[in-house]
Order: sequence, then C-alpha cells, then structure tokens
Amino acid sequence: MSYLKKRDKAVNWHPYTQMKTAEDAIPIMKGKGVYLFDDEGKRYIDAVSSWWVTLHGHSHPYIAERIFEQLNTLEQVIFAGFTHEPAIELSERLLQLLPKNQKKSFYSDNGSTAVEVALKMCIQYAYNNGKEKGKILAFKNAYHGDTFGAMSVSGRSAWTQPFAEMLFEVVFIDTPNSENIESLQLKINNWADDIICFIYEPLVQGAAGMLIYKPDDLNELMKICRNKNILMIQDEVFTGFGRTGKLFAADYLSEMPDIMCFSKGLTGGTLPMGITTCSNEIFNSFLSDNQYKALFHGHSFTANPLACTAALASMDLLLEKKTQENIHLISERHSVFLDIIKDITYIENPRQIGTIIAFDIITKEGTSYFNNIGKTLYKEFLARGIIIRPLGNIIYIVPPYCITANELEYIYQNILEVLDAFQN
Ligand SMILES: *Cc1c(COP(=O)(O)O)cnc(C)c1O
Repeated sequence: MSYLKKRDKAVNWHPYTQMKTAEDAIPIMKGKGVYLFDDEGKRYIDAVSSWWVTLHGHSHPYIAERIFEQLNTLEQVIFAGFTHEPAIELSERLLQLLPKNQKKSFYSDNGSTAVEVALKMCIQYAYNNGKEKGKILAFKNAYHGDTFGAMSVSGRSAWTQPFAEMLFEVVFIDTPNSENIESLQLKINNWADDIICFIYEPLVQGAAGMLIYKPDDLNELMKICRNKNILMIQDEVFTGFGRTGKLFAADYLSEMPDIMCFSKGLTGGTLPMGITTCSNEIFNSFLSDNQYKALFHGHSFTANPLACTAALASMDLLLEKKTQENIHLISERHSVFLDIIKDITYIENPRQIGTIIAFDIITKEGTSYFNNIGKTLYKEFLARGIIIRPLGNIIYIVPPYCITANELEYIYQNILEVLDAFQN
C-alpha cells in the first residue's frame, strides 16, 4: 500500500463508504482539464465531473487566478450587516439568467443547505402569513441532499432508513407522464389544503439514476400546483449551469417556480457554495416591523467572497461561445452514442438530455447482483483510466464541458469494450 493510502486509512472516513470492505481511496495528486493524476502518475478521465461539479475542467487557470486575486483582497467577511462586491455581482448576474420572477438570492454552503433554506423559506412563508399548512410534496425517487430536511423530502431508501423515525412527513408522488397526470392531479387536489410546497428535481432525477422526464409533463404538474397555491421549489443543484444542454432546466419550461436551488456547478466545481433564489412574493412575506418574521437562517461562511468570485469566473467561462459550442458538441456526440447502444440487447432505457447520458444494464441475477456489476465495472473503467461510477446497474457519463470529441470517443469505446467483455 502506498504511503498516502496508509495515512489516509489511518485517519479519514469517506462518504457513502463501507470502510471495512472498501478498496483503498486513490490519492489524487493533480488535476488538469478533464484529467486527474494519481500518486503513481496514472491518468484518469473524470467522466463524472467529480460528482457532477466540475464544469470547465480541473485547476482551471482563469478561475484560479481570479480566486488568488480575491484571496489577496478580501478572503471572508461576516455577511450579516456587511456585504461585498462579489456577492452583489454574482446575485445580479445569476438572477438575470433565471426565470424573471426570481428576484432575491440567499447564500449558503452546499446543495443540501440550499434545499434547507428553500424549505425554511416556504414553511416560514406559511407561518408568517398565518396559514396552518403542514406537509410537503415531493417525488418518490427524489434526491435533495443528506441533511435532515433535505433527507426528509428525498425518496425513502436504504440511505434514509436509519433515520426514518426522525424525518418529517412528506406526500410522495410519481414523476409525471401523459398517462398518470390526471391521477396526480386527483392526489394533489386531495392534499392541497395541507400542502405548503412542492420540491422537485426538474427533468432529471440525478441520484435516482439519471431518470429523465418531459418538460411538458412537468409544466402540467406545475400548473396544478400553481392553481392550488402550492409553492414550488425547483432544485437545480444538479441540472443548473448547462448540464441539460440549456443554461438551466428552467429554460425548457414555461411555468416558473417560486424558489430555486443551486450548488454543484455554481462555482465551476472549485469551491463549495449554495444559493437559494426566490420571488418577491416569498421575500416580501418576511418584511415586517416584527423582528420575528425575519428568516432565521445563516452560516458562518455565508457568501464567502472566494466562492462568489469562483462562481463569477465560472460564469464568465460558461457564457463564452466556445463553452456553449462544446456543450452542444457533447450533446450531439452523446446522441450518436445513444443510437449505437440502443440496439445492444443487454442494455435498456438508453437516455440523454444535454451533457447527461445514461443506460441500464440488464442482468439475469437480480438486484443484489446489480451492485456487484457496478463495482466490477467501476474497477474495470479505473484500470482503463476512466472514472465512471455506476449507480448499481446504471451507467452514466456527466463530463466536464472542456472534454474533446476524441476523449468522449475514448470513453464510449471503452464502455462498449467493457460491456462486451462482461457479457462474454
Ligand atoms: C447533489 C444534490 C444535492 C445535494 O448537494 P450537496 O452539495 O451534495 O449537499 C441536492 N439536490 C440535488 C438535485 C443534487 O443532485
């Protein structure tokens, strides 16, 4: 075992990891563009954008330079009673890109906290308005994060099981399609008087396995909620900043949410930060001469100037013509690959939206075997210098936007080879 692996094992507890049986964590020494380099000099293509956060590649020189400049100017300041230019400019620029009802921006530290803030905004909105509503509406397979509020509104699974007793009550519905929309409407109408808000991942349920559903169907569902005065929280933590081929999933929709959540790609994947934006209707419900109607939420590092600067630099890069063209190129390449794999007999549900592509491997051995497939394939891809983390029997690619056609081709080719070998 390498020296770093040994030291890591002695002191570090890794996320979602059974530390008894897990392989040793691979020490990464350096990142450059789509590549990560380990302690033995082996190079990996980061085909999952390091958990879906890296937009423009690792150690991007422009983002690094901007952060360095900011670091030498103002690294951190309390955001209650004080403000700074990076936070002002970032809110101004972000809000301008969002549905036009989004008017205010609240900073926190990650996707889960962005969701917590959104939930608290809705719950206190009802409270401030003297409404006695108690429930939240969410999708069955949802993933909104790992803190308690975010966990509560996420689909119940093995991950939430140990905490099940401590999670608050949520009304779960299926994602909409042309067949079930009427039954969803009935269910929502039944519960409507008691429901404060609806939280959803728009168009793609990421952690559930890149499950994709249609903008038209979401629009219908949003209309139903709007008619019943159910507030809408659109969790764009994963879908935001170009992932779906458009800047935001919101750009596929004609209906507007009341609140939106952002993180992951927000800083281009360089520093942790979350943002929750909202409409003036939400914001104004907190305005009062009564101190107790203020939003009681904050974090030590709220609107950290370095993270805001990273987000601004990442936004510069994202809006460049070159980046937009490359997002388009990734989408096109993905759809060509989709065409190739859709005829493979042991694959089902090939699906794609923008830079996200996924498919399921059919296995005869049942669910427990799925996990083994995932692990086996993960190791095989690593050996071939590609980081792909299957979700059970689901394989997906979510690459940084700087990836080239050749690098994509290398990933596709290896997927085909690995699957073929696995099948034989
Ligand atoms: C990852 C994710 C979160 C949680 O974000 P963290 O930064 O990991 O806490 C919330 N919502 C969605 C849709 C996500 O994909």
